[in-house]
Amino acid sequence: MIDLKNLTITKARKALDAKEFSAVDLASAYLTEIEKKNPELNAYLEVYDDVLEQAKTADQRIAKGESHPLLGIPLAIKDNIVIDGKRATSASKILQGYVAPYDATVIEKLKKDGVILLGRTNMDEFALGSSTENSAYGVTKNSYDLMRVSGGTSGGSAVAVSSNMALAGLGSDTGGSVRQPASFCGVVGLKPTYGRVSRYGLMAAVSSFDQIGPITKTVEDAEIVLKVIKGKDSMDSTTITDETYPKSDVKQKYTIGVPWDLIKREGIDLKVKENFKEAINRLESFGFEVKDIKLPNCLALYYIINFAEVSSNLSRFDGVKYGLHVDGKNLLEDYILTRGQGFGREVRRRILLGTFVLSAGYYDAYYGKAQLARVVLQKEFKEVFSSVDLVLTPTSPVPAWKIGEKSDPLSMYLADIFTVPANIVGIPAISVPSGFMEVEGKKLPLGIQFMAPHSGESVLFDIGKKFLGEK
Ligand code: GLN
Repeated sequence: MIDLKNLTITKARKALDAKEFSAVDLASAYLTEIEKKNPELNAYLEVYDDVLEQAKTADQRIAKGESHPLLGIPLAIKDNIVIDGKRATSASKILQGYVAPYDATVIEKLKKDGVILLGRTNMDEFALGSSTENSAYGVTKNSYDLMRVSGGTSGGSAVAVSSNMALAGLGSDTGGSVRQPASFCGVVGLKPTYGRVSRYGLMAAVSSFDQIGPITKTVEDAEIVLKVIKGKDSMDSTTITDETYPKSDVKQKYTIGVPWDLIKREGIDLKVKENFKEAINRLESFGFEVKDIKLPNCLALYYIINFAEVSSNLSRFDGVKYGLHVDGKNLLEDYILTRGQGFGREVRRRILLGTFVLSAGYYDAYYGKAQLARVVLQKEFKEVFSSVDLVLTPTSPVPAWKIGEKSDPLSMYLADIFTVPANIVGIPAISVPSGFMEVEGKKLPLGIQFMAPHSGESVLFDIGKKFLGEK
């Protein structure tokens, strides 16, 4: 029996190379777990039927003496990242039956390395939400408490990793969708610097915020996955190289900024605050300096730009080019019926609001202002990073909530307060587990988030490992 619970990518790679078990053994172990747990948790929308074939190929490569960081490693992929010949729906009805005709750049890189793609995971429709409740294919439950959400929008990948149904997973993060489900499920989630990872083959939600990122059990594993998937890509002109930004240095002692004003706001759970203070004590015990900084509440700015870009990006789903088609009396009616029936409530809400903020009469008042505010925020972060190496916050102001509890969309938007700034500014951020809080007899995982300047991933990995005792 392979001890999946304590397995990491690093350990699995060593065992595969030492022939302690084969890629087929490893993939089979995960398939067994998926069969046992997925019917209840609903993390996977589809488990691929060629998993063992892929594993056999990996074993042949290992037998030939090949060794790559992810060779033979079973991964879960969010349903908005396309894989040649496989279905992909972004958990939307509008893409029912769509089969992707090419590989996303990240998938191409993963395949080259020899990963095993286990299947596609559940998410909020088109990556819009914070709980995976907006999926057209049912909610993904949190394995720590089946009454609660897994977080979103990459809830499926987070649950797959936290309940040993995958060794690692890919998610996408537009405003926290890798970090927040990672924190709700007790695993590590990284949002890389904007442009670090190619978005080619990632279904666009908010093109100027979206980044693909790893969800893993350890910080070291996140680093391994990032190394494989990152890089300049001719198919995505926004991708960057290692030289695009000045290097951030890994240090013995870090200065960490904490935006207390923002954290002390109402709406932040008392136990989350307590857990956060304990995390600070731990960091101070390492000799790090923690100081107060100021950061504004960026939710309004985030959501205006989000709605605007979503309304534009989702206009491509018209019932003609992809997936679902509902026949009307004429072309306009085809569009109206297909989009009306194919998109869920939250998606339609954002398209309407986005169309409004971009309309001629209101453009300057909303979208134009938000873009100006974005530039101001960029400057503020630059200023902050002139006096601290990292910014620290809880990942989420609340732990995983009960399924159905946040039926008012605004209350759900508020839960994104700490994660959205990194996307607006384009800087990298990581969520690492910081312990548990007890609610109604259940232990719910919590996470803290570190943000670093552009291209500061190495610093995030360093402090993340130190915090978790990985080094
Ligand atoms: N919760 C945020 C939103 O609804 C972020 C989503 C995401 O990162 N994809 O927009």
